[in-house]
Amino acid sequence: MQVILWFIFSQINMMSVTVDDLPGAGLRIETQDYAEILQGIQNQLKSFDAPAIGFVNETKLYRDEKLQVERLALLRAWMKAGYELGNHTFSHHSLHRTELTDYLVDIKKGETLLRPLLAEFGQVPRYFRHPMLHTGQTMETKAKVHSFLKELGYQIAPVTIDSSEWIYARAYDRALLDREQDLASRIANDYVRYMLDKTAYFERQSEVLLGRNMAQTLLIHANRLNRDHLNRLLGDLKDRGYRFVTLEEALKDPAYQMEDRFTGRGGITWLHRWCIGEGKRDLILPNEPEASPFVMDASGLASE
Ligand SMILES: [Zn+2]
Repeated sequence: MQVILWFIFSQINMMSVTVDDLPGAGLRIETQDYAEILQGIQNQLKSFDAPAIGFVNETKLYRDEKLQVERLALLRAWMKAGYELGNHTFSHHSLHRTELTDYLVDIKKGETLLRPLLAEFGQVPRYFRHPMLHTGQTMETKAKVHSFLKELGYQIAPVTIDSSEWIYARAYDRALLDREQDLASRIANDYVRYMLDKTAYFERQSEVLLGRNMAQTLLIHANRLNRDHLNRLLGDLKDRGYRFVTLEEALKDPAYQMEDRFTGRGGITWLHRWCIGEGKRDLILPNEPEASPFVMDASGLASE
């Protein structure tokens, strides 16, 4: 079976699109923005027949500690459109800066509305994504979180194509808020190019580690940048030979059976975690593409 799967996965370029921080992430964001972001992303996914899973932070469904039913309705619309939802904790805290017990409480709290919502569709939450991809700085912590998730019926959702897309999104938001349309366009153009460069880099990384291009997992966020430009990215990925698949299908790639033994500080791609975990740190390819300097400047993060 393993050999057959390996053969199948070596023949096709597959990619699962995962969208974090639902109902949305961005500067000066309100219910109307969440609506436009999620609707925009859904429309573009639909035009490519691309399945997707969104990872929810329930804290964003509240305003002044009051549940905003319109925001919850946006998640229901996402489900109705045929997309999946997973748990991204309630508050989006980093495991590396939170007490373990508090973190576990936040995971459970993160499915307060999610679980009943999914039940309306005959589903249960089954994927969990760590905020910032911070997965624990000791094997003991990782194991405790893992077994807690398992008890609740979750599988960890790994990421192979990780990027600074969130920096581009921040720069884009600032440009829009400042009504700098030319700058916003330049950022968007560079975003698409950058994500393609990233994809090419992780394809090479997969080739070096596994001898083939594995079923990739793309991480993006529910933001204005993707509301406006996701179709360009999806179009270019399709031209590159990718078929968009569910997370479930992507995770059937045997590569995902490798253990994540990474205990470093950063939130890094699983491809590099596996290199490190297998004692093959030297396989990590140099020159991973970085966000362009003009985008860093526009994001306001350059000086931080
Ligand atoms: Zn997140």
